[in-house]
Amino acid sequence: MNFIDSHCHLHDPRIISDIPWIEDRARIANVQYMVSCATMEDNFELTAQLSKEFNSILPCFGIHPWFVDSLSGRWKDRLEYYLLSCPSGIGETGLDFTDKTCDRDLQIKVFEHHLMLARELNRPVNIHIRNAWDMFIRILKKMGKLNVPGLIHSYSGSADMIPMFEAFGLYISFSGSVTNPKAKKVVNALKRVSKERFVLETDTPDIYPYLPEPKASRLNEPKNLPAISKIASSRSGMDFEEFSRHAYDNSLNLFHPILQGEKDR
Ligand SMILES: [Zn+2]
Repeated sequence: MNFIDSHCHLHDPRIISDIPWIEDRARIANVQYMVSCATMEDNFELTAQLSKEFNSILPCFGIHPWFVDSLSGRWKDRLEYYLLSCPSGIGETGLDFTDKTCDRDLQIKVFEHHLMLARELNRPVNIHIRNAWDMFIRILKKMGKLNVPGLIHSYSGSADMIPMFEAFGLYISFSGSVTNPKAKKVVNALKRVSKERFVLETDTPDIYPYLPEPKASRLNEPKNLPAISKIASSRSGMDFEEFSRHAYDNSLNLFHPILQGEKDR
């Protein structure tokens, strides 16, 4: 049984010096690929280097909505340069209106640019949406279905919206938040999503899952993905192996465009 971590941040300064061991532990846990998302221009190069060094690391390049105020005047060129330099997805990008003082207009502009690039370059897109569902739906309706699908990472929306997102060609990604015993809303969403449309992620080094064994570290890592899958499968009412196989196949379908070429085996 193999796993794909559909959203993590291996460039993160809290774990970067441990990547060879993290990659090793992931491989032993049958995590075949890790989709590592950059979050700002400053970590594009590191994300690119990691993907060159390790076959199991698939890069995504994008500007996280928290960091839109870090943009340089050349951000569009730099983003395109990295996207064209290697097989890669787009992200982490999206909308986060949790902080009421954030620049919503700038987030929207930056996110729309990422969606436009996804369409132009045929790349899967890794999307972050928090407390901005109405605006997200408005943008999807305006832009129409993407030719290459994307995922909504660590889904926190309602179960009712899922059929609409699926119709837009999106996948729904579940993180360790689904292992929280109090996570009713996320579990309802998990029960609602089609078998062909869910994927799994760790969001390493964040969202440490609620695991039966005591925490070895405060920092999450991709090797925890099978344990997340085990808890998620029991909460969804599906057999562990069947659940994990669907998550794996769905991730392969989603990231197929960037698995071609040098990463193809
Ligand atoms: Zn993330």
